[in-house]
Amino acid sequence: MRYRLLRNTISPLGYRSIRVPASPSASRLLSSSTRKSPTSKSSKALKAAPTIPFFGAFFSSNRNTEEKTTVMSYPDQRSEDQWRAVLNPEQFRILREKGTERAGTGEYDTHYPTKGVYNCAGCDAPLYTADHKFKSGCGWPAYFDSIPGAVTRHVDNTFGMKRTEIVCTNCGGHLGHVFEGEGYKTPTDERHCVNSVSLRFSEDAAPKAKA
Ligand SMILES: [Zn+2]
Repeated sequence: MRYRLLRNTISPLGYRSIRVPASPSASRLLSSSTRKSPTSKSSKALKAAPTIPFFGAFFSSNRNTEEKTTVMSYPDQRSEDQWRAVLNPEQFRILREKGTERAGTGEYDTHYPTKGVYNCAGCDAPLYTADHKFKSGCGWPAYFDSIPGAVTRHVDNTFGMKRTEIVCTNCGGHLGHVFEGEGYKTPTDERHCVNSVSLRFSEDAAPKAKA
């Protein structure tokens, strides 16, 4: 019964479940319906359910393999359980299950330090400097660029939109999306729209040299 319910519910998000081998969408759906006691036993049962092959049929095997290879290549290979042990529930939902914080609620939405570094809230890798941040008015922290190589892009076709997802290159943690050509007066006219929850600011870390 639960399997059928999940399968119907997960349908619009199916692509997402394919991209991440640990099937976090299933875990999220589980935790939202049984938030008080998401036991590892039921989590395993969901992983065993044949949702991934079912949705995999909609996509080419090449694509599937490519995405999995990408996901598996992150240097920080912590398991879902290991992430749960170090992240709070909201961090886990956003970083590991590709969630989104509500617009205008994030700690760093209107945070404009003159120096410092925004690190990955999961693995602590430096992602953005204070110099990259700009006022977008979109409701989430916005950066026009990242520290070179710190952020990896993936095509994200969920919710019927073609977007570019950005993740931490070191741990694969979901940061947000990047949008191009919106007309912002920045050096790149790119907007890295990042969840505050995915970040941890440090003013002590050595920022990029400022002009
Ligand atoms: Zn990370």
